[in-house]
Amino acid sequence: MFSKKIPEALPEEDTSVWSCISGDCKGWMRTNFVFQEEPVCPLCGSAMAQEIRLLPVLMNSTKNAAFP
Ligand SMILES: [Zn+2]
Repeated sequence: MFSKKIPEALPEEDTSVWSCISGDCKGWMRTNFVFQEEPVCPLCGSAMAQEIRLLPVLMNSTKNAAFP
């Protein structure tokens, strides 16, 4: 029996996000969850810019029925 435990890495995907334009601020939101055309940062109130980040795939979708 080979039962080596392989650490399960979370799958990641390129995800469109809104990112705060303030360099000191870590504020960002997934674009999928933002419904304003020009959102402002919830942390500091600055404008936000869209960018692509590599983020863990969200597992709370009912489409992912294959996952326990
Ligand atoms: Zn901010």
